[in-house]
Formats: sequence, C-alpha cells, structure tokens
Amino acid sequence: MRFNRRARLDTSSIRDRRGMGGGRGVAVGGGLGGLVLLVVALLTGVDPGDLAGVAQQPGSGPGGGQLEQCRTGEDIERNAECRFVAMENSIQDFWDATFAQAGARYSEATFTTFDGGVQTGCGSASSQVGPFYCPPDRGVYLDLDFFDTLRTQLGAKGGDFAEAYVIAHEYGHHVQNLTGQMDRVRSRQGANSDAVALELQADCYAGVWAHSATQPRNGAEPVITEITQEDITEAIDAAETVGDDYIQERMRGTVTPETWTHGSSEQRRTWFQRGMRSGDPGDCDTFSRN
Ligand SMILES: [Zn+2]
Repeated sequence: MRFNRRARLDTSSIRDRRGMGGGRGVAVGGGLGGLVLLVVALLTGVDPGDLAGVAQQPGSGPGGGQLEQCRTGEDIERNAECRFVAMENSIQDFWDATFAQAGARYSEATFTTFDGGVQTGCGSASSQVGPFYCPPDRGVYLDLDFFDTLRTQLGAKGGDFAEAYVIAHEYGHHVQNLTGQMDRVRSRQGANSDAVALELQADCYAGVWAHSATQPRNGAEPVITEITQEDITEAIDAAETVGDDYIQERMRGTVTPETWTHGSSEQRRTWFQRGMRSGDPGDCDTFSRN
C-alpha cells in the first residue's frame, strides 16, 4: 500500500482523543472473561445497550491530538499514524463521490481514536468492544491498539491494508445509517439474522471502496496510489479472522451459529471480495441473498 506524498490530508473529521485520561488499565478485563467480551463485540454495528460501561475521565491535561497534526501524505513518512487520516480521507471521499453520482448527499462521519474508554452518543464504551460505529452521533470509534489485538490474540497477519479494511467496514455502517438500511435490522442473532446481513453488507461496502481506492476523484490525485496483491491478501485475512465461527472456535473451542452476529469467515471473505470485484454498492444486497 502506497500513499501519495503530495496529497493534502483533511483532518476536519478527525478527533484524536488518545491520552485524554481514559485509563488504559481500567478497560482491560481479567482473563478469558474480558477476552470473550472483546471478541463478541468485535467490529460491531453497535447496539448501544451492548457497550460496556467504562467511562472516560474528563480530559485531564494535554495529550492526544497527534492525528490532527497530519497535513500531507509526506507526513506519513515522519509519523506513520498519519496513514489513518489518509485512509479516512480516501474512504469518505469515495462515498462522497458515490453518493453525488446517485444524486444523493453524503455527510461525513467523525473518526475518533481513543485509548481505554470513550464517551459517545451511544453511551460510554471501552476498548474491549473493538472498533465501532455509533449511529446517533455519526461517529466511527477506534482504539488503535485493536490492530495489535487482531494479530496477537486472534492470529491475524496484520498489515496496513488490513487496518484500512477494518476502518472501511465501520464507514460501511455509516453508509447504511445514511441510506436507512440500518433500520432493516429486526433479528439480532443467528447465521441468517438481519444483524449478520448488516455486517456482511459493511464488508461488501469495504470491498467496494477498495475497488476504487486508487482512482483519481474530481480531478484530484488519489490519496492512495497503490494497493498490491499482498495488501488484498491481508485484508481478506483480516475479514476471515473476525468471522464468528473462527472467533468462537479459537476462544471457546465450539461453534454455535445461532449466536452469530457478524457472519462466518467464509461469508465475510466472500462479501468483501464481491464488493471489491464489482465496485458497485448495488451488488451488496446481503439482506436478500443471505
Ligand atoms: Zn460491523
């Protein structure tokens, strides 16, 4: 994955809340209990009631704000974390153009990084829920340490395009919120539930973005200039790693499809790839095909 050094980065939707006193230690549950909580809620579309109640202390002194200092693609060479701003820009630019093409108006979602815990329009959340999207405040929330968790606890290969997949998945939920598809969710659990259809559609939307990520938009050079086959392999690996069957097998040793909320590894890989091949959000009707 290669970034355009000349690209200007837009931080208007970035909220870097790290180091604001959330208390890293507070959120870490002991032993397996904490681990199960983490993975059950992993990449959730967020049911506000599911958020674990770890409140962030009010901002205590300086800190954070580093991502908000990223200005150009070149800054990624000095501060590698600026890549998250580049990914966010690429994803939101894509959806902005895609909505405009369809005669609709896209409104941006905020992108908040935090550590430990964070206050959101959906209540307070700890890092243990994994990255999530909060519909009422139109915000994507992410503890960047999650990507280490993905590797160390779940055995993913990792890589920056795997990170981009996770972020694009959360923005997929934002698209679902804007289009009203989020309201279609009636059944919240089980291999054939609406919840799983919603998650698979977010995976498909992540693929749709990946399809066009390196294309110029509105005459401007793209923020991302190259995606390699290895990048795509890493994203597919990440999609498989967050499959319900894989997580259940790894964490509990048994697989119970009736409790699935996100879909199997095969389903997640398949829908991501389908979106990536076609590049058309219209091919992401998981509610009819699931
Ligand atoms: Zn999700």
